[in-house]
Amino acid sequence: MTKPIPNSIIWFKRDLRVEDNAALCEALLHGSTTALYVIEPALWQQSDRSARHWHLCRHHLLGLQQQLARLGGGLTVRVGEMTTVLSQLHRELGHFELFAHEETGSQWTFSRDQAVLDWCRSNGIAWHEYAQFGVVRGLKDRDGWAKLWRQRMQLDTAKLPPHRHWQPLPSTPDWESWQPNRSDRDNVFGALEPLDASAWQVHKAQATAVLDDFLTQRGERYHLEMSSPHSAVSACSRLSAHLAYGSLSMRSLVQATWQRQKAVKTLPATERRTWPKALSAFHGRLHWHCHFMQKLESEPALEFRNFSKMYDGMREDCFNPAHFAAWCRGETGYPFVDACMRFLIANGWINFRMRAMLVSFASYDLWLHWRETAHYLARLFLDYETGIHYSQVQMQSGTTGINTVRIYNPVKQSKDQDPNGNFIRRWVPELSGFDDTLVHQPWLATTAQQTQAGCLIGEHYPAPIVDHAIAARYAREQVYARRRGAEAQAEHARVFEQHGSRKNNPRSTSRQSRKPREASPQLDLLEKPKSNV
Ligand SMILES: Cc1cc2nc3c(=O)[nH]c(=O)nc-3n(C[C@H](O)[C@H](O)[C@H](O)COP(=O)(O)OP(=O)(O)OC[C@H]3O[C@@H](n4cnc5c(N)ncnc54)[C@H](O)[C@@H]3O)c2cc1C
Repeated sequence: MTKPIPNSIIWFKRDLRVEDNAALCEALLHGSTTALYVIEPALWQQSDRSARHWHLCRHHLLGLQQQLARLGGGLTVRVGEMTTVLSQLHRELGHFELFAHEETGSQWTFSRDQAVLDWCRSNGIAWHEYAQFGVVRGLKDRDGWAKLWRQRMQLDTAKLPPHRHWQPLPSTPDWESWQPNRSDRDNVFGALEPLDASAWQVHKAQATAVLDDFLTQRGERYHLEMSSPHSAVSACSRLSAHLAYGSLSMRSLVQATWQRQKAVKTLPATERRTWPKALSAFHGRLHWHCHFMQKLESEPALEFRNFSKMYDGMREDCFNPAHFAAWCRGETGYPFVDACMRFLIANGWINFRMRAMLVSFASYDLWLHWRETAHYLARLFLDYETGIHYSQVQMQSGTTGINTVRIYNPVKQSKDQDPNGNFIRRWVPELSGFDDTLVHQPWLATTAQQTQAGCLIGEHYPAPIVDHAIAARYAREQVYARRRGAEAQAEHARVFEQHGSRKNNPRSTSRQSRKPREASPQLDLLEKPKSNV
């Protein structure tokens, strides 16, 4: 008598691909495999999720369905609470083992995973989890982390076994037309505005094609053109949403970058041009992806709490809803801030420097607590990645205690990154009549100049809602006051011990010699720190 083939379920989460998918390969090696995705309505109601995320996720699910079909399998999509779906499948399949990737997500996904673990234990089901990034579970501090990251990236990519048994089960009928409930929250401030068709094209393009184009064509001036929102659109890789939904594996991406770096070295200088610097900068960013996610993995409470307790109580009672609304809508009276916000609403993406400026403006100029702004941006970003997002938002809000406090001057950024004002004119058309100088500070225009430009400040476009110089001075005083003293030093040493990058502190192997200041990743590799950003 032949032995029955055991059942396995690969639970797809944010790893919507067949290429380099360790959980899928192991499930196939184990037995007859059901490929499962569960649409969890409660997840899509969370404050950090939006309908535009679902739209992109659905696109990747349909792509995954095709990839599995080419391998002779299929995708089972069910709508419901995860443990309820597992109970259904248990009744339909009998015993199975569950395979999935580790997830560094929000408190909600963590609690959901805990419920799945409890369900598995009480039903005698083994659940196998695999790492998919350079994020290390259960790490106490950062000693040796960079080495672990490299080791993970050097591993061979996961290969599908030659013999595969599939066991597709019926999906929830019409799952493709499922939509999250539209809440009032989503409709406020344009978070649900439909995306520009061209923006969708970029996000929905095949990950491998985007990568190839970047590594061989677009990326040559990456390090030189990443800071301006004009040039960043093509100079940056635009791979973040693919990494967030897992349609591209980080290991494949890092290995492709290494290969290209090797190939570029052999080129004659006339063809090598700026490629080595561009690729080295890009490689650094791939490292940061996991570096920032590791922070949330090691301390999940960072989704709710300041990195450093010294900043507790600093902004909590100062939330000004009118200022928040103006920032969300791109109506602060600072043209470049407003142009960036409106660009983000329309495109679901903006470059790093402009994300940092938007948060800096909300946290320092408007003195808003980072939590509300983080949720709003998360809903707008198609590449929303919980670990990177909260770590970055806090870093740009001055609450980590280990990073340089960087308060972006919105007018200086405007003149540096959009010198002729074309980006502003495109995204804040009210200002299109102003010349290249006044477009950055239209409130300085005389009444006659405003009339000539067809835009009266305060009527057609708002006057600045705060004075940047005054707001920045106040913010700086507040943050630095909390950095002084023995208690702050001890607390920031603790934060550094747990989360700080060791990369730029090579000699800091003994606890005494470490400095509680993390090298500032966004400027270290590429841009010289400037006193006035
Ligand atoms: C306030 C704030 C919030 C952010 N939230 C997110 C987020 O939710 N999801 C997200 O993927 N990135 C986030 N970032 C980081 C960064 O802005 C984006 O990764 C980048 O702009 C994505 O575009 P790209 O893929 O073209 O990046 P590229 O410049 O081409 O970089 C390649 C990849 O490296 C990683 N990377 C690049 N810069 C950073 C960085 N500073 N920190 C961590 N990883 C980085 C990303 O995975 C990115 O896809 C945030 C930055 C800030 C300041």
